[in-house]
This record gives sequence, C-alpha cells and structure tokens, in this order.
Amino acid sequence: MSGPRIFAPDLLAGKVALVTGGGTGIGFGIASCLSAAGATVAIASRKPEHLAAAADLLRSEGGTVTTVETNVREPETVGRMVEHVAAEHGRIDLLVNNAAGNFYAPSATLSPNAWRAVVETDLYGTFYCSQAVHPVMKAQGGGRIVSISMTLHYRGWPLMAHATAAKAGVDALTRTLALEWAGDGITVNAIAPGPIPTEGVKKAFTPPGEAPDVPAMDGYVARAIPVGRWGRPEDVGHLVTFLASPAGDWITGSIFVVDGGSWLAGDRR
Ligand code: NAP
Repeated sequence: MSGPRIFAPDLLAGKVALVTGGGTGIGFGIASCLSAAGATVAIASRKPEHLAAAADLLRSEGGTVTTVETNVREPETVGRMVEHVAAEHGRIDLLVNNAAGNFYAPSATLSPNAWRAVVETDLYGTFYCSQAVHPVMKAQGGGRIVSISMTLHYRGWPLMAHATAAKAGVDALTRTLALEWAGDGITVNAIAPGPIPTEGVKKAFTPPGEAPDVPAMDGYVARAIPVGRWGRPEDVGHLVTFLASPAGDWITGSIFVVDGGSWLAGDRR
C-alpha cells in the first residue's frame, strides 16, 4: 500500500471483508487498506491472474488473503463465492461491491449486449452480492455493505449511458437496502469516487497504439480537479476502512463523494 498508514493495524482485527474486483485498481487499493487495518480479506473477480498477483502482494505485506473466482453477473456463482468465504472464515463483516466495467459508446448505436453487460455487472452484480451476504450478516448479528458508485450521473455524461444509469441504480439500491436491512444490523452505504487513473481511465487519455498522453492528463487535473491531483485507490480505501470500523456504526444510507472537488467543478473532458 502506498502512502502513510492512516489507521491502527488492529482496527479491523477479527473482521472478514469481501471485496469484488479486489485484484486491480480501486478494488485492490480498498483491499490493501482493509488488510493494513488488520482485516482478513477475500478478493473476488473473474480472472485468476488478477487475483493471484494481488494476493501475493497483500501476503508479502503480512495480509491474510483468500481469492475466489466469481462473475458478479451470475447469481449462482455469487452464491458460491459467499458460501466459500463464509465457510473458510466463519463470517463476513464487510462486503465491498466494487466490480464494474464500462467503456465509452454512443447511445444511438449501443448494442443490447453492450448495454446488458454493463448494467448487469454494475447494478445487478451489486444486488446479487448484497442479497447473497444478507443471510450471513443477519445470522451473525450484522455487517456492513459499501458499494462503489460514481458521480457522472449527477449531471449526465455523454457516451456513458449504460454506466451512469447503472450507478444511479446503485445509489437508489443503497438507500433502499439501508432502510430494509437496518433492523438486521446491516449498514449500507456507497462511495462515489472521482477520477482515479486506473487502466480504464488511462485508456481514455491514450490515442490508439500510443502511450498515455501525459500533457493531456496533467491538463485535465489542472482544469477539472480543484485539489490539484488525481485520486488514488487508497483515497477510497481509507473511507471504506472508516465505514467498516466502529466509527461507522451509525452511518447508513449515505453516498460519499471522494473526488477532490471535481464534480462540483463540473469540467467535461
Ligand atoms: P478496474 O481496475 O477495471 O476494476 C474493475 C474490477 O472489476 C476488475 O478487478 C475486474 O476483475 C472486476 N470485474 C469486472 N467485471 C466483473 C465481473 N463480471 N465479475 C467479477 N468481477 C468483475 O476499474 P477501477 O477503475 O478500479 O474501478 C473500480 C470501481 O470504481 C468501479 O465500480 C468503477 O465504476 C468505480 N469508479 C472508478 C472511477 C475511476 O476513475 N477509476 C471513478 C468512479 C467510479 P476481472 O477482470 O478479474 O473480473
């Protein structure tokens, strides 16, 4: 994990966290922060190579890590993922719905398959995973769910109809599940990150066949991110850690923007 250690290394000792898409990008940053705070972490996604490399890194820093291959679009494999983690570790205290995928595409010609792929991953996947952990969390007396949303649907974002519609659904789901499951001791919140240059975001600044356009990336920061730097995966990971800790006991149904002020600034790329 890069950057200073913010939280005590035993803050989440004894807690078990399941992070979907935890092998790459923001998900890996979240898994790193949780692990650094003492949680046992299960990371889940489709590609074993993503999971193996991330698990090696976390273990090299002293973390206790499990990997689970899953596809969040498929409720049956999601069910098996949750069974596997609960059987191995005896409980699941935190689910982070981070897995997602998107790409720029004009709405006028977006194919039904492309639409379905993004909405099923970002929205249906969030619901399937949340529904699957519910009985485990209820039986153990409570738990936390944090879903990773975005800010682009606050104003609308051309070429991202699928992802903005899906993430607006994630926000709605967050508020509704928070109310339905509060009585089961389960808090449900979401975090809406601003621009964090993971591989997908870098691609938007990379002309075909070339390296990322660094001046364009620097120009974007100067124009669009008031605090003057790109986000880092651990900017999100630290807030997830806070929400997973006792400090998060009375927080539910909230959607936290973590974006260096960029959605308020309102720039278009
Ligand atoms: P990323 O590196 O592409 O991460 C996406 C992760 O999801 C990958 O680990 C991928 O692993 C996994 N995944 C994709 N489809 C899956 C499926 N069907 N089943 C299981 N796992 C799946 O992207 P990121 O930028 O870190 O994004 C992480 C989250 O932050 C997403 O929810 C995204 O919408 C949100 N976000 C990102 C930004 C940003 O600027 N980066 C801004 C706002 C919101 P496999 O390929 O191994 O399945």
